[in-house]
Amino acid sequence: MTEVRHNWTTEEISEIYYSPLLDLIYRSATIHRENKDYSEVQISSLISIKTGGCPEDCAYCPQAARYNTGVDVHAMMPKDEVLEAAAKAKAGGASRLCMGAAWREVRDNRDFDKVLDMVKGVNEMGMEVCCTLGMLTENQAQRLADAGLYAYNHNLDTSEDDYKRIITTRTYDDRLNTLENVRKAHISVCSGGIIGLGETNEDRISMLKTLSTMPQHPESVPINALVPVKGTPLADQPRVSVWDMVRMIATAKIVMPKSVIRLSAGRTEMTTVEQAFCFMAGANSIFAGEKLLTTPNPSFSDDMAMLELLGLKPREAFKNDHRKQKAEAVEA
Ligand code: SF4
Repeated sequence: MTEVRHNWTTEEISEIYYSPLLDLIYRSATIHRENKDYSEVQISSLISIKTGGCPEDCAYCPQAARYNTGVDVHAMMPKDEVLEAAAKAKAGGASRLCMGAAWREVRDNRDFDKVLDMVKGVNEMGMEVCCTLGMLTENQAQRLADAGLYAYNHNLDTSEDDYKRIITTRTYDDRLNTLENVRKAHISVCSGGIIGLGETNEDRISMLKTLSTMPQHPESVPINALVPVKGTPLADQPRVSVWDMVRMIATAKIVMPKSVIRLSAGRTEMTTVEQAFCFMAGANSIFAGEKLLTTPNPSFSDDMAMLELLGLKPREAFKNDHRKQKAEAVEA
């Protein structure tokens, strides 16, 4: 039985990260297969409910107002369109709908009330609902939880040391505070990062250390490969090697064995064989649907065909519900 540890040292994570690639994959695959649900893949669909015009300066993001990227700015999507997108995603095999808004932070205004209403509506459809809305206070996290929010995404992006090179308009501590607020409201935490930003291997290791030494590991850890977008400061970054993705996924699985590791942005550039290596290394979640906020993504049907080929199947909604597990632990 794999022990879940929260006291990983940088040296230990480095040793794992730098181990020979096939040894690393073998080790992470073995840990992954100790989980009886290893052949299940959690499928999320990500929609942008408010696009572009963001005041933040995340160097990778086409939605930052200060970069000229050609992204069309859209005001809040109406609820009926969100429910329509959710129904389409559910029919395509997704168990979770993730709604993203290009905001610095949530404000207690009418737009937030609309988001709460959307959360309620999608939850009533029997789907897990996730939001990624920027920074949150404790009270806002609680209001989202009360509306039925299942998960909240807030990525660390990179290491604490590298963070200022990528984002100057908020701090690493701001990110960690939001994650704490999400935890306090008993919402499932989704937090990971992006590789290919120009970070070093030590930055990747440091980010994994921050995640894996949290008192409770994020239930979901997205590992994104940068999709360089023209007009952003990182437009000329070279593409990330698939082996770097595999190495990162495998290390994440070893240090956070119970977390769902999500193979996220950058999948369009990967062949089925390359994605198979990521699943082998421990990835057990993907985003499906033609768009990932503003960047292209494989279609539902292509993904379903890939899962069938690899003998994998979509995970049903609310399986291993963290809220039920918590309630059972309290009763016991
Ligand atoms: S990543 Fe989010 S916070 Fe950063 S610029 Fe893009 S939309 Fe804004």
